[in-house]
Amino acid sequence: MTSTVPNAAQHTEAAEPITMFGPDFPYAYDDYLAHPAGLGQIPATEHGTEVAVIGGGLSGIVAAYELMKMGLRPVVYEADRIGGRLRTVGFDGCSAAGGGGELTAEMGAMRFPPSSTALQHYIDLVGLETRPFPNPLAPATPSTVVDLKGESHYARTIDDLPQVYRDVMDAWNRCLEEEADFSDMNRAMRERDVPRVRELWSRLVHRLDNQTFYGFLCDSDAFRSFKHREIFGQVGFGTGGWDTDFPNSILEILRVVYTEADDHHRSIVGGSQQLPLRLWEREPRKIVHWPLGTSLSSLHGGEPRPAVTRLHRTAGNRITVTDAAGDIRTYPAVIFTGQSWLLLSKIDCDDA
Ligand SMILES: Cc1cc2nc3c(=O)[nH]c(=O)nc-3n(C[C@H](O)[C@H](O)[C@H](O)COP(=O)(O)OP(=O)(O)OC[C@H]3O[C@@H](n4cnc5c(N)ncnc54)[C@H](O)[C@@H]3O)c2cc1C
Repeated sequence: MTSTVPNAAQHTEAAEPITMFGPDFPYAYDDYLAHPAGLGQIPATEHGTEVAVIGGGLSGIVAAYELMKMGLRPVVYEADRIGGRLRTVGFDGCSAAGGGGELTAEMGAMRFPPSSTALQHYIDLVGLETRPFPNPLAPATPSTVVDLKGESHYARTIDDLPQVYRDVMDAWNRCLEEEADFSDMNRAMRERDVPRVRELWSRLVHRLDNQTFYGFLCDSDAFRSFKHREIFGQVGFGTGGWDTDFPNSILEILRVVYTEADDHHRSIVGGSQQLPLRLWEREPRKIVHWPLGTSLSSLHGGEPRPAVTRLHRTAGNRITVTDAAGDIRTYPAVIFTGQSWLLLSKIDCDDA
């Protein structure tokens, strides 16, 4: 069962939007991306230098795309398929209802918050469209069923649910306000007031560093009732129930809530995997060193290198990469975008 209790963020409207300019990561990526001079410059003597990018998920493809634009030569290694955990599959011969193109299923990421403005930058760049994702009780959702202990309710909005659900919503909003400086943080983030964001966050880290989500609720006046905590855990906020997160740090939950990462989700029309695939084929209009018409695909002859099997440091502080085809190349720099446990379990890697 999933459903939702909207969180306080949904009640706050202000001129400046909430973005991923977050409590402990207050960097204006969207400003950097919009800067007319681009993300940075490489000395001309280094143009064409190869940099290994391990992993062809969105992180790797974005990194490779930006390095290529700066005049470097990214060499992408991908063990499986471009897109990684952005993976969309089609159903042979089936089209979406209403003639809306091919029917697809998302096997990985499927909903993205508008506050993720850097992601939106790349979605716009490759000409993809988004539409509201039907999260529980979202305006785009025809109906949400809340089934708790055998009692079912069908609802379009929170107003269709019994009073106790609205009480839980109010308790969560009160809790965020009283225990986590929600409005102050929200304002500071919208205004990109870094000293204020840091001041508020340091205070919270000091107080809540070893507090769980559940402990945070128990300690608040607003959630003194077990029944309210139980409903909140099962029905949740944003995308649904959050009780599996109860043992996690409340600071992790606050990061999500402050940045609206779980709110107003949208999906990519036609499938999320199109984003890395389009970036792979895209020929940037502004590119240093390489001729117009260059793309990641053209630099790689259409295919990334295969899986990396070994990484080790070699003379001159360089990194030598061995791949599954037995090819060995040495680079001045490597960007590793796979999950970090792969370095321990799947790749023969220097301990250091
Ligand atoms: C089922 C599911 C649902 C999700 N839903 C959402 C959602 O709705 N919204 C959201 O924002 N996020 C969601 N996520 C998370 C999101 O998909 C990831 O955070 C994001 O795609 C990670 O991108 P990445 O490029 O950092 O890593 P990945 O996509 O994991 O890319 C890493 C790449 O490295 C490759 N690789 C691994 N080992 C090697 C090697 N030895 N050599 C070369 N390549 C290697 C892998 O094959 C992979 O392609 C979901 C994830 C999953 C699995």
